Amino acid sequence: MTHPPLVGAEVWQDVMTLAEDRCQCQGVCGKKHMGPNRKPGRCERVADEYVKGKGRVKLLAIPRDPSLPWHEAARLPARRLIAFCPDCSDGVRRALNRAAKAAPPQADGLFDAEPYTVGRASGDVT
Ligand SMILES: [Zn+2]
Ligand SMILES: [Zn+2]
Repeated sequence: MTHPPLVGAEVWQDVMTLAEDRCQCQGVCGKKHMGPNRKPGRCERVADEYVKGKGRVKLLAIPRDPSLPWHEAARLPARRLIAFCPDCSDGVRRALNRAAKAAPPQADGLFDAEPYTVGRASGDVT
């Protein structure tokens, strides 16, 4: 399975250069990428690394803010994109889908019956 490139070749190359050809995921995909000393690290996947059963890794350029529609990545400049390996980008996609299901789009009027009131901040008490 191949992933279609989300952005043009030139921008993609810039993103890869900024990322030093390495996946920039630091755990948003749901995996803990542990670095040395068990500190949260960064995904180890690098471009063109051979992964058994998957072939060579082709890093993707996805929006730095993954909640942006990914098909709009093509319109973003390289500095607003981030390099992710296919596994991590799939993980992010899954996490986004879960979040979308957990928080259905708010329907107008849904909360009308019970208006949310902000508690009085302590500083307001006289
Ligand atoms: Zn990765
Ligand atoms: Zn990851």
